[in-house]
Amino acid sequence: MKDTKPDTRLVHAGLDPHANFGIVNPPVYHCSTVLFPTLEALEGADRAPFETVQYGRMGTPTSQAFEKAVAELEGGYRAVSAASGLAAITTALLAFAKAGDHILITDSAYGPTRRFANETLARFGVEVEYFDPAVGAGIAALLRPNTSLVYIESPGSLTFEVQDVPAIAAAAKAAGAKVMIDNTWATPLLFQPLRHGVDVSIHSATKYIVGHADAMLGVIVCNEESWLEVKRTAVRVGTAAGPDDLFLGLRGLRTLSVRLKRHEQTALALADWLAARPEVTRVLHPARTDFPGHALWKRDFTGSCGLFGILVNQVPKPALAAMLDGLELFGMGYSWGGFESLILPAKPAAIRTATRWEEPGLLLRLHAGLEDVDDLIRDLERGFERMKNAL
Ligand SMILES: *Cc1c(COP(=O)(O)O)cnc(C)c1O
Repeated sequence: MKDTKPDTRLVHAGLDPHANFGIVNPPVYHCSTVLFPTLEALEGADRAPFETVQYGRMGTPTSQAFEKAVAELEGGYRAVSAASGLAAITTALLAFAKAGDHILITDSAYGPTRRFANETLARFGVEVEYFDPAVGAGIAALLRPNTSLVYIESPGSLTFEVQDVPAIAAAAKAAGAKVMIDNTWATPLLFQPLRHGVDVSIHSATKYIVGHADAMLGVIVCNEESWLEVKRTAVRVGTAAGPDDLFLGLRGLRTLSVRLKRHEQTALALADWLAARPEVTRVLHPARTDFPGHALWKRDFTGSCGLFGILVNQVPKPALAAMLDGLELFGMGYSWGGFESLILPAKPAAIRTATRWEEPGLLLRLHAGLEDVDDLIRDLERGFERMKNAL
């Protein structure tokens, strides 16, 4: 059906039951070798390497179903899946950066993205420069004749700055640079970067798309001009996702919208409660009117997820440990996007180079899971109590 809304597309995208005995979900193909019946078929496959199924690493009906679904949701031409979010990021960067190029990356980018750029791309003669996430159209002043790509992440990892994506994309495109974004926070549902001039949108599907903290998966949504080079690079580096992880991604997609709404609701309620706590000096949440990037978020996004940050008054480590170690519902750990609530102390100041993170206090990143919000608040309240008693 044409012109359906995102929630409807989410349910049906990438499915073709009648190609498979009417069974609703596509089969999970465990595949390395694919047999060709004749020499002619073998040679024919060579001429259309990405359109046929010819070897597990190059794509299977399972990876194609997942890629088709995500591309359709985000308004992309086609998508390329990868073994993790970081594999998706490094593949996309490798597709468009070459020796002698200058590339621009937001100072708010995910730490491991920076590490790959600084420690691997730099070794191959790519000059990496970081820019202020608040740069907007001012990015024009940083673009050079050899700038091959501009890499955005919005909201920023740990610090949640919202970037003016259309303005950055317009300036970069005018200078002939590719524009990429890490769109993990928004998922394909809450922001559609390709509709704002971005060429390539990358997701750690490990987070909300899989949604249950039990698989690693990445996906790169591409416009028509970018897809073939990204696909070729993915095949060259061999970053194929495993079939069961793709299955979990496909399964997760169908409930993404209902889960996200609950994550959003709980995060906003927690943020309200936290904002009123004496220990909390700031809440970093793009959907709150007191957040500096709020107007941009409101203009471009259709909602928010469960991930946000707070700044709390600095306390000695034993007091922080007393709070965090005793939490019963909030787990302490990396990643996010699963059904469970998480909390993580973070130190953005240590990794920045183009800007300074000078906010006083201690940054805690929270992920609002699917638990009852009153129980989550009680867990945090007792945590603050333990913190106070340890001072
Ligand atoms: C987790 C994360 C990644 C990396 O994804 P993995 O699937 O863990 O490799 C990339 N970007 C952002 C914003 C993330 O939070």
